[in-house]
Amino acid sequence: MQYIADLHVHSVASGHAYSTVTENVRAAAERGLEIIALTDHGPMLPGAPHAYYFGNLRVIPDMLFGVRVLKGIEANIMDRQGSLDLDDQRLAKLDIVLAGLHTHCAPHGSVAENTEMLINALRNPWVDAIVHPGNPEYPVDFTALVQAAVEYDVALEINNSSLTVSRKGSLPFCHTIAGLAKQYGAKILLGTDSHFAVHVGNFDAADALLAQHGITEEQILNTSRERLRDHLTRRGRVVNL
Ligand SMILES: [Zn+2]
Ligand SMILES: [Zn+2]
Repeated sequence: MQYIADLHVHSVASGHAYSTVTENVRAAAERGLEIIALTDHGPMLPGAPHAYYFGNLRVIPDMLFGVRVLKGIEANIMDRQGSLDLDDQRLAKLDIVLAGLHTHCAPHGSVAENTEMLINALRNPWVDAIVHPGNPEYPVDFTALVQAAVEYDVALEINNSSLTVSRKGSLPFCHTIAGLAKQYGAKILLGTDSHFAVHVGNFDAADALLAQHGITEEQILNTSRERLRDHLTRRGRVVNL
């Protein structure tokens, strides 16, 4: 599979990542990527930047080293209602909004409670994708989640870090998600979730997993500029891609 975009990347601004925006974008260029999304953690995660950081991303050029730079966030889901940790006005100005469950932000609950929380986040019109839904710390009803993702036209991430360095125990859940995504036709977003620039654009583990489930490029946002643009503009967001 040919991937043109890494849509989940952290910089030093996240507080526990180790490369600058410049280093990340340069790494994307060296890997031959056309697009990178800057998705630092939302303000409520310990060490993450203030909301001002996301409001000021416009100072970064849209093109850097020949790579289209999308300004985004990995927002924290904060409660069972699916609230995010950035206001709608700032979310509206971003190019891409990822949302996910993180300890210190999202309450841990039962399968039913976790599923309700994620589905409520899916219904937020600013959310483009749910990241690392296979996190074993937050077990969910995957059939209900995938069906809701299709209904609300939100992508589900297969997170390369979950299969390599983070969130141990994610693998079987990611297989379940991939199998259901194939069955129901859910959109897939791939992210390296890179916290250091050498990982930008490396989807080896996620690619192998998707191949086992026969998922083809038509379902994956990272394989086509047009497919990504169509997804990001579906709620009236203007993204020049
Ligand atoms: Zn995350
Ligand atoms: Zn992340």
